[in-house]
Amino acid sequence: MVKAQGVHKSYGAVQVLKGIDLEVAPREVFCLIGPSGSGKSTFLRCINHLEKINAGRLYVDGQLVGYRQKGDKLYELKDSEVAQNRRDIGMVFQRFNLFPHMTALANIMEAPIQVKGETKAVARERALKLLDRVGLADKAGNYPAQLSGGQQQRVAIARALAMEPKLMLFDEPTSALDPELVGDVLDVMRGLAEDGMTMIVVTHEMGFAREVGDSVVFMDQGVVVESGHPRDVLTNPQHDRTKSFLSKVL
Ligand code: ATP
Ligand code: MG
Repeated sequence: MVKAQGVHKSYGAVQVLKGIDLEVAPREVFCLIGPSGSGKSTFLRCINHLEKINAGRLYVDGQLVGYRQKGDKLYELKDSEVAQNRRDIGMVFQRFNLFPHMTALANIMEAPIQVKGETKAVARERALKLLDRVGLADKAGNYPAQLSGGQQQRVAIARALAMEPKLMLFDEPTSALDPELVGDVLDVMRGLAEDGMTMIVVTHEMGFAREVGDSVVFMDQGVVVESGHPRDVLTNPQHDRTKSFLSKVL
């Protein structure tokens, strides 16, 4: 579903990604771990072309991200084509950025109506189902300020799912939450995994990575240091950098 080959990304003279190679299979739960500044968020942003890579190749569902290849040459996609491809990728961030002036229900209905031109009735029916799926059927009429952080984050997940994405990207979705709210959000993500959603999850929740993850990649300073089954990477790391990182977070 996602394939990275020698992906490089720099900001000015600062090299953030220094040749990332990895592959995420359909239905896989792929966990990305690593210290602050290692390039995890940058990599996620490259996947939906919020950042342009400087070298290498990045594919989503067999399609080059952001470009079209003709012979040896790459041509940048038009903004409208990038936007079209982005529809298929759901993204959930650390900070729940719901629209504050809209109810939970309206937040979830918004993109399908505005972007896909869906009717209100259809969008509403799906939004209600999604609210139920994330355990918030009774909060449809609440505004974000009337929801806990964990509830807001679950609405954010429902909102991403409303576009029926083929890939979900999570960037530390629970790290801004009070500890007692983390479990409900992870449970929703676990359910998504069980339903076969392809997910890339940047997380410090090693329990989630171990129990739900199909593979774990440890990134440091813009390179993949170690990757494999969570059982191996998390319980029997081979590299000193992985060992040192895990000793701090476990
Ligand atoms: P964290 O765990 O703290 O979220 P991360 O692994 O997600 O870290 P990134 O946010 O990808 O790390 O950042 C990697 C590096 O790129 C950092 O050194 C950061 O300062 C730099 N960086 C990120 N975005 C930009 C930008 N827009 N302009 C310049 N430098 C940036
Ligand atoms: Mg980050």
